[in-house]
Amino acid sequence: MSHASMSRLARAAWRGSSAQQGLVEAAGLAVTALPPQSADAIVLGGGHNGLTAAAYLARAGLRVVVLERRHVLGGAAVTEELFPGYKYSRASYLAGLLRPQVVSELRLHDHGLKYLVRDPSSFTPSLPGSRHGGKSLFFYSSTEATQTSIAQFSARDAERFPAYEEFLGCMRRVISPLLDGPPPDLTSGNWRRRLASLGMARDAAIAVAKTPAGTLASLAELFTAPAAHVLDRWFESDMVKATLATDAVIGALVSPRTPGSGYVLLHHVMGQVAGRPGVWAYVEGGMGALSNAIASAARAAGAHLHTNSEVEKILLNEAGTAVAGVRLTGGLAIAAPIVVSSATPMRTFVELLDAGALPPSFTEHIRHTDYSCGAFKINLALSCLPQFACMPDAPPGVPGPQHRGTVHFETSVDEIHEAYLDASAGRPASRPVIEMTIPSALDNTLAPAGCHVASLFVQFAPYQLSGGSSWADEAFKTAFVDRVLDIVEEHCPGFRRSILHIDALSPLDLERVFGLHRGNIFHGSLSLHQLAYNRPATGYSSYNTPVRGLYLAGSGSHPGGGVTGAPGRNAAAVILSDDGGDEVAWR
Ligand SMILES: Cc1cc2nc3c(=O)[nH]c(=O)nc-3n(C[C@H](O)[C@H](O)[C@H](O)COP(=O)(O)OP(=O)(O)OC[C@H]3O[C@@H](n4cnc5c(N)ncnc54)[C@H](O)[C@@H]3O)c2cc1C
Repeated sequence: MSHASMSRLARAAWRGSSAQQGLVEAAGLAVTALPPQSADAIVLGGGHNGLTAAAYLARAGLRVVVLERRHVLGGAAVTEELFPGYKYSRASYLAGLLRPQVVSELRLHDHGLKYLVRDPSSFTPSLPGSRHGGKSLFFYSSTEATQTSIAQFSARDAERFPAYEEFLGCMRRVISPLLDGPPPDLTSGNWRRRLASLGMARDAAIAVAKTPAGTLASLAELFTAPAAHVLDRWFESDMVKATLATDAVIGALVSPRTPGSGYVLLHHVMGQVAGRPGVWAYVEGGMGALSNAIASAARAAGAHLHTNSEVEKILLNEAGTAVAGVRLTGGLAIAAPIVVSSATPMRTFVELLDAGALPPSFTEHIRHTDYSCGAFKINLALSCLPQFACMPDAPPGVPGPQHRGTVHFETSVDEIHEAYLDASAGRPASRPVIEMTIPSALDNTLAPAGCHVASLFVQFAPYQLSGGSSWADEAFKTAFVDRVLDIVEEHCPGFRRSILHIDALSPLDLERVFGLHRGNIFHGSLSLHQLAYNRPATGYSSYNTPVRGLYLAGSGSHPGGGVTGAPGRNAAAVILSDDGGDEVAWR
């Protein structure tokens, strides 16, 4: 059946289901209870990318149904009140990568999105008595203030810092336009896509041509070299380099000394908040408030959003050439000529499609995707703010600059490299890399007065463990959590006593709770061979798949993971321009 005829049938069913939904809403019941039996497009997964795709498709007039397996929308960009009164950004914790077009086109501020910009953005304490003598490093929004802080460690580094910022800004300006559409790929797609590819390649070439020659060479270096090598060129102070190097390893099982880690660093500084490049912010109400704003835009455009609705199978037509809809766990089938999956490539192509539905070479490629990551997340409820040993005079209980930004506990690149070596041997790092944030220092909607929530993003806890260990072993997991808390305690005496509740998510928990294959926070690692025209597989980087009508719109597609909304927005644009040779039913 063509998109057009399928769509006409679906539209009739939709009117019925909307009326039904209205009744359910009027009765004050959950609107998630009754998914319609058919739609123009089904969005599989209600993470922020699925919601973004749904919003754009619904705005274009398609009848869209979003199906999310969890009880809550947002995927890894979610707020959960795990203990009464304490609301956590349970997985992702900072916004900065969300594409500005998504914010403005979907009018997300009107739908409740509110950024809380952090200043300072980063704090690296050192222990009194250590070689850094209890001095701490701050990165502020003011370059001059940051230079003053850096100068405590190296006058030369302080002087060079503005040029480093300009260098990253230059890289950002070159790369950024490539995030907002399918990546240049002349090897696949119809003529319109290839033409669009040429346009993007031309824009990138112009941006590169406008770049000073030295910077272009540095861009090539940043893509291919170890981040540590790049940082060594710029800076001499261990404190400065260690703090900047963490961006090169977050969510990636690599060392700053691994070639290609420079790209991960670039990925993390690619964003902007409220027009300020490279800035990260909290979202008032936690990251779920960002997803809820997108959900609200999708609902306003007419999309139907359903939680507790797990897709068990993606259904194909009789010939096995095109999608026909999905079947939910429990048996309900929903017909649609378009299915947009925002689940991981592994789940979409290997778990939800029948074996044989895809060319074997494609399935092989997906099966061999690198999902190594090493992320572990700890969410805490605290009875009071941590008191840092290096700031003994700070008034207790009063949020200060040390509480607002991301706290880093590593003071040399060697420490990060050591942690990587443990993890690459299948052992959780004996001294893992930690990013601690305390969003309640800026957002009083998250915890009861005087109390706080803290998030510890921990790197270098591999999914695949050696020596028969398992994250399912509670004692093993608790021992690792203890190790992490001990590091914070070292810097903040009394910290452990202030802990009221702990939510600890191992890589296995990230897989089980959020559906993140092998706990990879980006739906597949951001290694160079898994980016651009190779994401998720060569020839399928334009959100299309070997099955007609099936699209991929999650972080497993270009430009990769992070709370960007880019895959969702880009996929919707491709779908809306993709008639596959048929009439486009919704125009
Ligand atoms: C611990 C952690 C910390 C992070 N920190 C940050 C950060 O601070 N900033 C940042 O920008 N990024 C961060 N990230 C990365 C970022 O959160 C993710 O890359 C991004 O949220 C993924 O969004 P998505 O919409 O592509 O996929 P997801 O959020 O993974 O959404 C996919 C959805 O599909 C659903 N699903 C799966 N299978 C089915 C099925 N069969 N039926 C129905 N539904 C299904 C899942 O439940 C999920 O809700 C972090 C991630 C993690 C895990």
